[in-house]
Amino acid sequence: MPKSPNISVQDQILSLTTILDEVGAYIYTKDLDGCYTYANSYVLKLFGTRLEDTIGKKDNDFFDLKRSNQLRAHDIRVIEHGETIEKEEINFIKATGEKRIYWTVKKPIRNTQGQIIGMCGISTDITERKQIEQQLAKQNQLLETILNNVDAFIYMKDSNRHFHYVNQKTADLFNHPVDAIIGKRDIEVLPEEFANHLWTMDEKVFSSGVIHSGEESFEDTDGNLRHYWTVKVPYNLDESISTLVGFSTDITELHELKEQLRHQSNTCSLTNLYNRRYFFNELEREISRANRQNGTLSLLVIDVDHFKTINDELGHPTGDKVLQIISDILATSVREIDTLARVGGEEFSVILPNTNLKEGLILAERIRNQIHTHPLPDEMNFKTPLSISIGIAEYNQSQHTLETLYAMADNMLYKAKQSGRNQVCHP
Ligand code: GH3
Ligand code: MG
Ligand code: MG
Repeated sequence: MPKSPNISVQDQILSLTTILDEVGAYIYTKDLDGCYTYANSYVLKLFGTRLEDTIGKKDNDFFDLKRSNQLRAHDIRVIEHGETIEKEEINFIKATGEKRIYWTVKKPIRNTQGQIIGMCGISTDITERKQIEQQLAKQNQLLETILNNVDAFIYMKDSNRHFHYVNQKTADLFNHPVDAIIGKRDIEVLPEEFANHLWTMDEKVFSSGVIHSGEESFEDTDGNLRHYWTVKVPYNLDESISTLVGFSTDITELHELKEQLRHQSNTCSLTNLYNRRYFFNELEREISRANRQNGTLSLLVIDVDHFKTINDELGHPTGDKVLQIISDILATSVREIDTLARVGGEEFSVILPNTNLKEGLILAERIRNQIHTHPLPDEMNFKTPLSISIGIAEYNQSQHTLETLYAMADNMLYKAKQSGRNQVCHP
């Protein structure tokens, strides 16, 4: 510090010690014997002494040196070997037994000849900071344990498709170690098709900035298709890049059960054909479609002839088998685009989309003939050939509703029955 003509050396020392007292750290000097030659107000407060009572005293008076072994070891290295120490130091205060952690810088003090005459030290108390760090580390460990043991795939990804986090379960699914995934783009660690599939929902989250959820389906490492319920939440780490956190749970069993239930609610268990409920919903959809496209459709209503006789002669269980045989023939007779259903006991119905009456008649006649020419198994011992009666009607947008269309086909069925059965009748 340049000497000012107006300030005495004493004043300068006073201002220096004031600064040292205010600097927010423990500052001290010691001689070669380890006796304090200076201690700032922080040190004095810690020791609970005054400066004059501290000078000449050794650490032994203030610290539990048996436990504060780093303190002595560091001092020796500075004083005897001229080293500069910059380290964490754990010290135990003698009076209270309290453990404090410091970030300590210790340097030798040399005279003009360069000989070491003592040492100075600056220590910052980092006890609370260390405690917070330890707490954070513990919480991180807990979080990590939870994330890696929860039965869900959890990951964090940014809008440039880089993974910021994957839990162990996700890493196992991707077939890579966690460290090989974090920092990489999805297309670098996953097959392109799979990565793009996952990206579909990610993109929606990034473009909308809101939470998205839905089903995602993809093959596992064994090639089995599995279904996941996924929730993706926007979670911005910092302002420079958008990120999301994704949670996916395996719902394959639930998905299959749902599909099974849907199938069961739409089909008849005896014949495996669609049921009445499904049929009329489908007829409504097809009529709307025909209206939209200014197209047409035809409807067949089918009833097995003299089925009571079959039941009476063969018994109800064999009657059921005959119904299954008839259903199988019908199923193979209709086209891919047609909807065939069992709408009643031995009554069936078929929607023929984009089919006019003329085309429908050809198809109906073919079906009727196939049933009639199909022999029942010998063991049933029923020699009368099977036969069905069919009523057909073509939809006309200006004349029909669903109900009147169905009624017209049903009337034609009645007509076929009246006219001797085993035939197709049309309006
Ligand atoms: P028609 O030619 O006039 O149709 O004569 P039908 O004997 O077939 O007369 P109807 O259609 O009125 O009778 C249908 C019979 O089908 C009555 C009923 O016992 C029988 N049936 C209905 N559902 C089933 C079923 O699920 N299994 C069996 N085995 N029989 C059924
Ligand atoms: Mg009937
Ligand atoms: Mg009948």
